Amino acid sequence: MTTTHTGAPVPIVRLEDLHKRFGDNEVLRGIDLEIQRGEVVAIIGPSGSGKSTLLRCLNRLEEPSRGSVAINGTELTGNRRELARMRRQVGMVFQHFNLFPHMTALGNVMEGPRTVLGLRREEAERRARELLARVGLEDKADERPGTLSGGQRQRVGIARALAMNPDLVLFDEVTSALDPERVAEVLRVMKSLADDGMTMVIVTHEMNFARRVASRVVFLDEGRVVEDGTPEQIFAGAREPRTRRFLNQLE
Ligand code: ADP
Ligand code: MG
Repeated sequence: MTTTHTGAPVPIVRLEDLHKRFGDNEVLRGIDLEIQRGEVVAIIGPSGSGKSTLLRCLNRLEEPSRGSVAINGTELTGNRRELARMRRQVGMVFQHFNLFPHMTALGNVMEGPRTVLGLRREEAERRARELLARVGLEDKADERPGTLSGGQRQRVGIARALAMNPDLVLFDEVTSALDPERVAEVLRVMKSLADDGMTMVIVTHEMNFARRVASRVVFLDEGRVVEDGTPEQIFAGAREPRTRRFLNQLE
C-alpha cells in the first residue's frame, strides 16, 4: 500500500475545497472529502444537489472551478499523461449504460483492455469472459446491447469498468433507469464487489442498499457535504434537520 512519509495510507480520493460553477450557478461549494481504499461510500441528496457533478469532477469529466482533486496521491492538473493514468485507475458506470451499440457484450468488455491497456486479444477475451461470468452474463457474451434487458446492459457496464482493473469505481444512479424487477440483479452484483473489497463511490436513491452495503454515507445538499458518517449514524441519528427532512420524504 502507498503511504505518506508519516506512514499514513494515501487516500484513494482527496478533495480539498472543491468548487464547480456553471456560469452563475455554483453547483459545488467547497467540498472536502477523503476516501480510503476499501471504503464503500454512498452519496445521497436531493436532485440537483451536485452529486453527478461531484463524481464527474472526480474523474475529470468536469474541470473544477477551484480546489483540488487528488487520486492515489497525485493531484489532477489536466496534464494529459496523468489524466490517462487516472482514467485507468478510476472506472465509472453511468445511469444510461453508454455501451457501444455495434459491439457484442464481450466486445464492449474487451475494448478498454485492448486499446488502452494493450492486452493481446486472447488475454483480453479470457478476462472479459471471466468478468461476464462474474456479473452472471457468461451466456450473453455474443449479444449486442440492443437485445439485452436494462439490467443486463448495466451489468455489462460494470464488467466493462472492472476490465480495466480499477482502484476505484464510481456509480452514478445506475439503477434509476431500470424497471423495478431489474434493479435487484444490478444491486446484487454491486454488493458482491463491495464484499470483495472494491473501493466504490455510489450515488444512489436506493436507501436500503446504502444502509446495507455502504461503509459510509455522505449527504450532499446545495453543493455542500451536510453530513458524513456510518449508515447507522446517518439513517438512525442524522444530526442535521436537512438530512432528516430528506430521508423522511423518501419514506
Ligand atoms: P444531481 O446529480 O445531484 O441531481 P447535478 O450534479 O446533475 O445534480 O446538477 C447540479 C446542478 O448543476 C443542476 O442545477 C444542474 O442543472 C447543473 N448542471 C449540471 N451539469 C451542468 C452542465 N454541464 N452545464 C450547466 N449546468 C449543469
Ligand atoms: Mg445526478
